[in-house]
Amino acid sequence: MLSEFEVIRKFFSRTPRPGNRVNLGVGDDAALLSVASGHELVAACDMMLVGRHFFADVEPAKLGHKCLAVNLSDMAAMGAVPRWCLLALALPIADEAWLAEFAQGFHDLADRYGVDLVGGDTTRGPYTACVQILGEVPSGTALRRDGARLDDDIWVSGTLGDAALGVAHVRGELKLDTRAALHCLQRLETPQPRVVLGEALRGIAHSAIDVSDGFAADLGHILQRSRAGAEIVFEQLPRSDALIRSRDAHAERVRDAILAGGDDYELCFTAAQSQRATLAELADKLGLRLSRVGRIVAPAAGLVVRDADGRDIALPKTGFDHFAAT
Ligand code: ADP
Ligand code: MG
Repeated sequence: MLSEFEVIRKFFSRTPRPGNRVNLGVGDDAALLSVASGHELVAACDMMLVGRHFFADVEPAKLGHKCLAVNLSDMAAMGAVPRWCLLALALPIADEAWLAEFAQGFHDLADRYGVDLVGGDTTRGPYTACVQILGEVPSGTALRRDGARLDDDIWVSGTLGDAALGVAHVRGELKLDTRAALHCLQRLETPQPRVVLGEALRGIAHSAIDVSDGFAADLGHILQRSRAGAEIVFEQLPRSDALIRSRDAHAERVRDAILAGGDDYELCFTAAQSQRATLAELADKLGLRLSRVGRIVAPAAGLVVRDADGRDIALPKTGFDHFAAT
């Protein structure tokens, strides 16, 4: 069995790329990093526990991907450029094959976005992967939850609800056809953080959040921080072909997945109506669907979701809350 230090050396020590200003990386008591002048340091942390955030038999490469992806998604939501990350990992045993796959999933995604792993902690325990991510944003330009303005359009990237359907499928709560299952599981296990979109939205969006706990709950955070209300047109909420095909058999389930399903890691943002053409061009350029789903209204309205006939749709239980009574 590998020792703790062999694990770190073999799987988690890599030469930092030039350009990321890593003055000292893995190997000392802490890393030394230089933030570019005129920039703010953007920091976030997200933890994944076996049995809580992923199934015990998840493929290690997918866990490696996802524990970093969810953190990159936080950078995206801030409009930040991700640069550095730290990984605190608990493992019941130092299984080399498991570690090799986990590290591959992790490093592949880190490479795609030019992020350097500059430190962490390794300990024995039930599988847990806690990543801290650090990024940069030109001072004063970060996308925040508190910037939504009256009459802003509300936008969503990609599609909503796929990951939640994937979870329901794995749990046997509904049955997706093979193609839909493949799509939904891919969305659940290897989410694609919208980093490029987030960076492009600086100077365009007034506010942003990543959809990790469910659309209604996460838009709710923007509304609360911005002291605003919102009107959403349910039919305009973007959905995948897989989800549309599943709708007839599982109508209510699908509606809940769209409004309250977690783990989508899309961006929800608001922007002035004058940005519509710019955003349509951006969607084309990125090859990413951007859907206009509603608008910001006065705070008294709260969050209203309407169907095609203008009738209010009751919101399902709001997003995921780890401490909610079960
Ligand atoms: P300390 O005892 O000072 O916390 P450790 O012995 O835990 O240091 O770690 C040694 C070095 O390896 C440190 O630079 C630490 O940041 C790094 N490290 C430990 N675990 C990981 C990991 N899972 N991924 C990346 N770096 C790690
Ligand atoms: Mg340590």
